[in-house]
Amino acid sequence: MRQFLDVKDRHPDAIVFFRLGDFYEMFFEDAVVAAGLLDLTLTSRDKGKVDAVPMCGVPHHAARGYVARLTELGHKVVICEQVEDPKAAKGLVRRDVVRIVTPGVVVDEEALDPKAARYVAALVVGPTPAAVPAQPAGRAGRASAAPAGPAEPAWGLAYLDVTTGEFRATELASAGAASDELARVAPREVLTDGAALDPGGAAAPGTAVRRYRAAWGPVEVPELDGAVAALELALAAPVAALAAERPLAIRAAAAVLAYARATQPAGALPVARLAVYAPGATMLLDEAAIANLELCQTLVGGRRQGSLLDVLDETATSPGARLLRRWLLYPLTERAAIRARLDAVEDLVAAGELRRELRRELRTTSDLERLAGKATLGVAGPRDLGRLRDTLLALPGLAARVASAPRLDGPVPLLDLASVVTPALVALGAALDRALVEQPAALVKDGGFIRPGFDPTVDECRGLADGGKDAIAAIETRERERTGIASLKVRYNRVFGYYIEITKSQLSRVPDGYLRKQTVAGGERFVTPELAELEAKVLAAQDTLASREAELHHALVAEVAAHCEGLMAAGAAVATVDVCVTLADVAERRGWTRPTVDDGVVLDIKDGRHPVIEALAPAGSFVPNDARLDADREQVVLVTGPNMAGKSTFMRQVAHIVVLAQMGSFVPAAAASIGVCDRVFTRVGATDNLARGDSTSMVEMRETAAILAGATRRSLVILDEVGRGTSTFDGVSIAWAVAEYLHDAIGARTLFATHYHELVALADDRPRVHNVSARVREQGGEVVFLRRIVPGAASRSYGIDVARLAGLPRSVIARARDILARLEGDGGASSGRRLAAHPPAQLSLLAGALGAETAGRGAAPPGPPAAPAASVEPGAAAVLARLRGLDLDRTTPIAALTALSEMRALLR
Ligand code: ADP
Ligand code: MG
Repeated sequence: MRQFLDVKDRHPDAIVFFRLGDFYEMFFEDAVVAAGLLDLTLTSRDKGKVDAVPMCGVPHHAARGYVARLTELGHKVVICEQVEDPKAAKGLVRRDVVRIVTPGVVVDEEALDPKAARYVAALVVGPTPAAVPAQPAGRAGRASAAPAGPAEPAWGLAYLDVTTGEFRATELASAGAASDELARVAPREVLTDGAALDPGGAAAPGTAVRRYRAAWGPVEVPELDGAVAALELALAAPVAALAAERPLAIRAAAAVLAYARATQPAGALPVARLAVYAPGATMLLDEAAIANLELCQTLVGGRRQGSLLDVLDETATSPGARLLRRWLLYPLTERAAIRARLDAVEDLVAAGELRRELRRELRTTSDLERLAGKATLGVAGPRDLGRLRDTLLALPGLAARVASAPRLDGPVPLLDLASVVTPALVALGAALDRALVEQPAALVKDGGFIRPGFDPTVDECRGLADGGKDAIAAIETRERERTGIASLKVRYNRVFGYYIEITKSQLSRVPDGYLRKQTVAGGERFVTPELAELEAKVLAAQDTLASREAELHHALVAEVAAHCEGLMAAGAAVATVDVCVTLADVAERRGWTRPTVDDGVVLDIKDGRHPVIEALAPAGSFVPNDARLDADREQVVLVTGPNMAGKSTFMRQVAHIVVLAQMGSFVPAAAASIGVCDRVFTRVGATDNLARGDSTSMVEMRETAAILAGATRRSLVILDEVGRGTSTFDGVSIAWAVAEYLHDAIGARTLFATHYHELVALADDRPRVHNVSARVREQGGEVVFLRRIVPGAASRSYGIDVARLAGLPRSVIARARDILARLEGDGGASSGRRLAAHPPAQLSLLAGALGAETAGRGAAPPGPPAAPAASVEPGAAAVLARLRGLDLDRTTPIAALTALSEMRALLR
């Protein structure tokens, strides 16, 4: 018990699995918690006593499943083993912590998704830099993203996959950006020193980071000097230069590394390199865009099927699957790098049959990254070494085959496997092959995995053991003859070793010299001195054999671990080939084409299709559409049309094509020319966005504000019915102001679907605003959605048209038109024009004028205050103060609207 309390003292936040014989036992609070979660029977030590200790246990051979369940539920498990042979120990067997399993640090292959990295992350907050305004929206935020003054980062994020040694760190300028990057990285465990989560914390700039769904825990974050020293020691590489540039990233990296280290007291981590990156070096995709575009999972239900990743992921290997996901979530922005990927894919598209052979070969390769990781962590078994050997032996052939693919346009560095298949790795493969049998056992204790002829001791022991067993087997025949007992059997069990069994009826014929050992139901068991002597020989030989095999295994694992870096590099190269082969396969099968990518601000897509919807629809039924956006001309494109006409699909397919192109993939279009986008924003109005439960306009406004703060002239902005979460007139106002701001101030290429028809008039007023619409047609009294996006705005009364097509009585339709005309005040589409002529602020007057008519719609806006505010309204003074405090030169339309709504709240 003292041993246990010792361990528990050091790990108060974890559940301790304490090895006692064949069981792992849990005690006290741990037992109560685990029994509940794992459905175990809670018993107690010293039953009956007042201070009985609650306990429960699991058999050691079944432990991994229980450990996995606890960590999936967010718990930390400390594995405490007997570290002495119980037979050799004097007194109490010494026990110690051999491994800590946490949600983010799992090394058990069976508990890991082979297709996803398992990250543990650390998040560090720096002092609030002056450059980052407290308010996320606003010009200052945008200015900080401009090249002139680099943003002073305030958040450091580092993450580590201990199974592969992937180790990255970055810095982010705001809590929102930190949240977005967390969502993209998707760590299972996030560690912070507390400041990051303190909403009112002095260190937190603006709002605190939104709680990303993971297990959150505390970590000690070292000061910069300590962090540099620790990392330089661990990586055997200088990091001082990085530290000067990105101190918070370095501190986060040191924190997460130290944490992961502590979980593996018995083994090293396979970490060799820290990659520090700037999020801006790749396309920025924030949390909302990743969710709305359904890149990795669907919006409703969170399923992988139906996501873009699901359409793409036909990778043959798990490292390939992990890399593909990374390519998808981190599209490139550098033209040359994008082209390098496209070149590789194009070569492989042209490779045809060769590509199919490559796939077959790739499928037989094992996960080099995770196998090398297991060796370094000291948890690789003989079977793992065998799989590593098989893959290493196959690599030269694979490299040669990749090299034989046609090169359309000179060498393709991405497909150069030969340079990573080094002589050292080939030699390692050969060494493993000399040592190991064809199909080694999973565990060292199963034995028999060393190839005959490799090691004299192993051969000799096997000879002795086999000889002994033969001699024992011979005893059976001989004794049967000698005693005349035909049913005499020589048997073996773990308790008694070898014995002779005689059935009851034959007991009278037992010869002298048989020593009785045990009586069982059917007869008796005997030993003889000869049998005992042979048995001792066999056991001694087997003992020596087992320890020799373990020794050899240990040496092989160490040799593999020594090649960790080379193996990781080879694994990464194989993964790259796999991803390129996959993208080529998908491109060929789905009829995708190579996009051209340039540094311009045009987006020109001919006959684009939605990659996921097309894949799910009957062949040939998807209607392709052109799309053109141009920051200099058709910058803001308003998409109108009735519900179900295909607006959302059209806009998302444009975003998908951009993401695909910049990740280096072919795209679902007849032709596509992409001026590189630095960020893709996608917002879906509240009613369309059921899954995220964002029913309040506040969330929508905040998200929209984030776009206006973050978008640049190089961005792609997709707004789908934004403003819907609010009352009608608020909605129109917001949509209007946002569209204007995107046009006037930002210049980002924008697709904007809206059911606020008033907006189409913007095209008359703003040079770079264009209208397109999704067409519908009547056919035999039925509404037919043509799914064609055509130039020009949809008809003002398309809702009523659809109602008519749907067969509503003629009188109802007529009445609807009548009401519509009255709502518009003057019976025509000119209300939109009138809006265009006046700033959106006047909408509130309009709202007041129409308030009575719209009251029946349920969400009618209140009219303007009926009486002079100063005399009657208690909040008036506060409103006046707020008004005076507004710096109109620095107030965006959205900020103004927010201020308006706050002021109205003050009056209530
Ligand atoms: P909206 O946003 O205008 O309400 P959606 O984009 O949600 O319409 O599309 C409605 C339905 O029409 C979707 O279920 C989609 O599968 C289908 N659809 C949309 N565009 C196309 C197209 N180009 N070809 C075939 N089907 C389409
Ligand atoms: Mg829609």
